[in-house]
Amino acid sequence: MTAEDSRRQGEWKLSRSVGIPRALSFYSYYPLWKTYFESMGINVVLSRPTNREILEWGIRETVTDACIPIKIFHGHVIDLKDRVDYLFIPRMVTVDGQATFCPKFLGLPDMVRFSGEKLPPVIDSPVQANRFSRGIFAFFRDVARQLRLVRGYRWAAAVVQACRKQRLYQQLLLKGQLPLQAMRCLEQKAQADCGKRAAAVSRSGGSLKVALLGYPYVLYDPFISANLYQRLSDMDVEPLTPEQVSPREMHRQSKVLPQNFFWHYSNRASWSSLHYLEHAGRVDGVIHVTAFGCGPDAMVDKFVELESKKKRVPFLTLTIDEHTGEGGIQTRLEAFVDMLRAKKEREGKGAG
Ligand code: SF4
Repeated sequence: MTAEDSRRQGEWKLSRSVGIPRALSFYSYYPLWKTYFESMGINVVLSRPTNREILEWGIRETVTDACIPIKIFHGHVIDLKDRVDYLFIPRMVTVDGQATFCPKFLGLPDMVRFSGEKLPPVIDSPVQANRFSRGIFAFFRDVARQLRLVRGYRWAAAVVQACRKQRLYQQLLLKGQLPLQAMRCLEQKAQADCGKRAAAVSRSGGSLKVALLGYPYVLYDPFISANLYQRLSDMDVEPLTPEQVSPREMHRQSKVLPQNFFWHYSNRASWSSLHYLEHAGRVDGVIHVTAFGCGPDAMVDKFVELESKKKRVPFLTLTIDEHTGEGGIQTRLEAFVDMLRAKKEREGKGAG
């Protein structure tokens, strides 16, 4: 790197910040983005956890029939816009070269840019990878271009380091850590402990097991999901999510259907349902959490319902929108869990 390059990198370090909205792809890829920017000396600013104010901003900015995750994303953009030099809204196209992200993901940077708000420049590099680690170099090359970063040794090391962090993150999710816990773990120095704690989480279990299916930005945002994951744990139910199904198993399940869905997260939800329903007793019930106004979910929900029926596993759909009340969710969950317990007891007696 020349002296001029070093000077330019040094300027970035002192003055630039990139805002990352705590929504949508945040739950899948934040450690990747954050490690890259910080390794390049750029300050990362995260929007606040979703709250009523952020939701209201998002509703104001979007068309009424947009799904709630998209509305909330716009709210997070408003939360960041006056605090950062750039907004980071990658155009998520594909991470496996086959399925694409849903059309709203594809058009997200444009949707935000033309929302009418005065925004800082949007970094909208496309993620278009056949295999994630390969295509990601092209992606970060484009990010560097948009930020006018020098692509030298430091840049390559930042990409490698970011991919390494992302792999660790995915391993923690696989072992049963929730995204926010796993992110916190990765921030700490003693990362070896993260794995041990994750293993302990996955062993702790509950008296019932329920496949909790849906998109990560719905399942793991406590505000959107009305803290569903925690509510189930409090009822002594172990929620099993798509993030706990290994890539190899996802690949195996992708061969089961003659035709998969066109969309990345929809496939993950449907393949996990096949995995959890494959063997009797793997789960006691299935809950599909779907966002009102989600086109892809209209098909995924029916698919999971029919598969559950085929395997005689009780199924519940929870549709979330901006009017969803915590009371309603709690009542439906309690009724469902009571029914699962009664069924398990009956079957236990029948077997004895
Ligand atoms: S998959 Fe559904 S919930 Fe997700 S962004 Fe697209 S329309 Fe919204």
